[in-house]
Amino acid sequence: MPEGPEVQTVVNGLQACITGRRIAGVTFAGGAESMVETGADSLKAAVAGQTVAGVTRRGKYVDIVLESGMHVLLHLMMTGRLVFRDSQAAPPLDPPRFLRFVLAFDGGAELCLGDQRKWAKLVMLPAAEVARYAGIRRLGVDVLTDDFTFERFKALLDSRARLHSFLLDQARLSGLGNIYVNEALFHARLHPLRTPASLSEAEAGALFHAIYDVVRAAVAQRGTTFSDFWSPDGAPGGYQYKLQVFQREGEPCLCCGTPIARIKLGNRSAFYCPQDQPAPPDAGSPENPANSQRT
Ligand SMILES: [Zn+2]
Repeated sequence: MPEGPEVQTVVNGLQACITGRRIAGVTFAGGAESMVETGADSLKAAVAGQTVAGVTRRGKYVDIVLESGMHVLLHLMMTGRLVFRDSQAAPPLDPPRFLRFVLAFDGGAELCLGDQRKWAKLVMLPAAEVARYAGIRRLGVDVLTDDFTFERFKALLDSRARLHSFLLDQARLSGLGNIYVNEALFHARLHPLRTPASLSEAEAGALFHAIYDVVRAAVAQRGTTFSDFWSPDGAPGGYQYKLQVFQREGEPCLCCGTPIARIKLGNRSAFYCPQDQPAPPDAGSPENPANSQRT
């Protein structure tokens, strides 16, 4: 699933591509009308003829702001992919596979949404209701904004959850998914089974800086591309070449050579270097981590 940095990459691309363009119309394909939580017909009626005033990010939602003040929120979920097709470009990009939704602009350019599973979600809301929308209202401090300060981070650390699940909890910190949680813990040299409440001041500082740096480096690299994420202009992300631990089980740690380990925590995998990220005394065995289900 795209994480905060991937969505920010999409937003950065869209800002450049569609801001100021006038929407000619909307079409759906493959029964994708059901992806619009607030009704496909009202979305069609509200966006036709509108100019895009700007594009921002709210958590993992892309927020397309129209001149009228309406907001079109888009969540790509697991397999959604956006492709911007500029009729002026030669040659224009191919439309994505499993095409579901097309925002057509005057002059022939198109923003296409492909989604194999039709899990992507569209919501249209007036400005006053955006902050109250359930998917946004419950979001914690966004790690890619200026709201993410060491003071605010420290105030969250009273939890006895395991660090891995604590950092994935979007109600506390928003924007981190499993890739960047694993990478940040490695950069901070903290084992995924440590608890926030057990961190020393220095460890909390190291973790704050690791999160801060990892997500910003990922945005600078245009995110991490595996199989299902491409930025709007079709250029792949480059952060996969920077990954230290994520999906590197059994491969040597790039710092010390120790094989990277993996443990299952709930339904997610945590990847770490057993040498650089020492286990806490209550961690249990690697195969059977103590309290791994606790969040
Ligand atoms: Zn190591």
